[in-house]
Amino acid sequence: SDDPRTALLHRVEADQVAFINLQFTDVLGIGKTVTIPVEELPDALDHGVWFDGSSIEGFARMVESDMYLVPDISTYAVVPWDQHQGVTTARLICSVYTPDGKPFAGDPRNVLRRMLDQAAAAGYRFMVAPELEFFLFKTDPNGNILEPHDKASYFDISTDLATHIRRQMARTLQAMGIAVEAVHHEVAPGQHEIDLRYADALQSADHLVTARVALKAVAQMNGLHATFMPKPIAGVNGSGMHVHQSLLDRDTGKNLFADPDDPYGLSALARHFIAGLLAHARGMCALLAPLVNSYKRLVPGFEAPVYISWGRTNRSALVRVPRITAGRYQATRIELRCPDPACNPYLAYTAMLAAGLDGIRRKLPLRDATEEDLFHVDPRARGLTTLPTSLGSALDALREDEVILEAIGPSIAERFLDARQQEWESYRAYVSQWEIERYLAIF
Ligand code: GLU
Ligand code: MG
Ligand code: MG
Repeated sequence: SDDPRTALLHRVEADQVAFINLQFTDVLGIGKTVTIPVEELPDALDHGVWFDGSSIEGFARMVESDMYLVPDISTYAVVPWDQHQGVTTARLICSVYTPDGKPFAGDPRNVLRRMLDQAAAAGYRFMVAPELEFFLFKTDPNGNILEPHDKASYFDISTDLATHIRRQMARTLQAMGIAVEAVHHEVAPGQHEIDLRYADALQSADHLVTARVALKAVAQMNGLHATFMPKPIAGVNGSGMHVHQSLLDRDTGKNLFADPDDPYGLSALARHFIAGLLAHARGMCALLAPLVNSYKRLVPGFEAPVYISWGRTNRSALVRVPRITAGRYQATRIELRCPDPACNPYLAYTAMLAAGLDGIRRKLPLRDATEEDLFHVDPRARGLTTLPTSLGSALDALREDEVILEAIGPSIAERFLDARQQEWESYRAYVSQWEIERYLAIF
């Protein structure tokens, strides 16, 4: 019966918390934190905590640098790996505000909240479930990263060296209020997957930021390095972050994507949503697959999408419609397969929702499903276009997509494009070992 503020203060006391990490993320999706002693918590809840926004990647220029953090009480969690000499630390995820008391437009979390408010005003609740893939690498005592941790493959048992580590990861996430649906070894050596349970998009994005830190911490405790780099090893599968998505009726909670009479089980609304995802696939790709390296994953032959298509069974499709248990219409969802785990989840979810809602608003027709394996047919003959093949072309496509730019807002757009363009230019000017080996002797 306590109000949320009082309830939080009681929990903090019961958990014997000494420090609170106040957390947020920068434009690139990197977690940031400032730590306060627990005695400062009531003041932080009432007045926020001020910081210098000009030192955060993509946040602000010197003149507008004062900002403050407003903790979201519902995100309270004890940090299981941050127990040191009996001192307990908890964390609260925060939103960033400007001195005039407005949500800062450059805070990715605020951007997603605004997009979700728009969806709610139209009657929708956006639900997502991400599949987080990652690699474990061995490290030496100095922390240098060595070879993949094991040689196992998909669902292997006997050669899988990480069974206990994945369980420890799942337990750590669960201890932080993050529901885990399944864990397994993935196709590539040292590659794993943790599937998070369906949640509201804001909560899910918070969970992903936490999960990435948590998995790295657990790996480190086991003398390993966990990486969310999309394609750490050439020639084998990379790491994706497929996102299952659906719209629920905001008031009744009914799944609006379900239509039992449709061959794919999809409502007209779901079809427009998919059409929107396909229409904006190129424009939003830089937000979903944000690194130079992301585009080494999006190549034929490694279960990652290349062509802008949809289907049911086909794992080369960009959007897949997973089968559901007969009669479980509430589980109807679509799976977008181009995102990777290096993305900023707040911006990625914002872009996906904006794309889908645009498809609904414009009643975009959905092209026919493609059920063949696209790696073995000529997709051009079927009129299929491709995702961007490099970060450079993805950034160009983003610059031309008004819907996605408007969804993330001019402040984030400018800073994201600046930062990523610099990265792309740096890569473009680099001469790789591959080129030396191929060309130096011959030309
Ligand atoms: N690792 C693959 C990717 O890059 C996905 C494999 C799967 O279907 O889970 O997206
Ligand atoms: Mg997978
Ligand atoms: Mg999947």
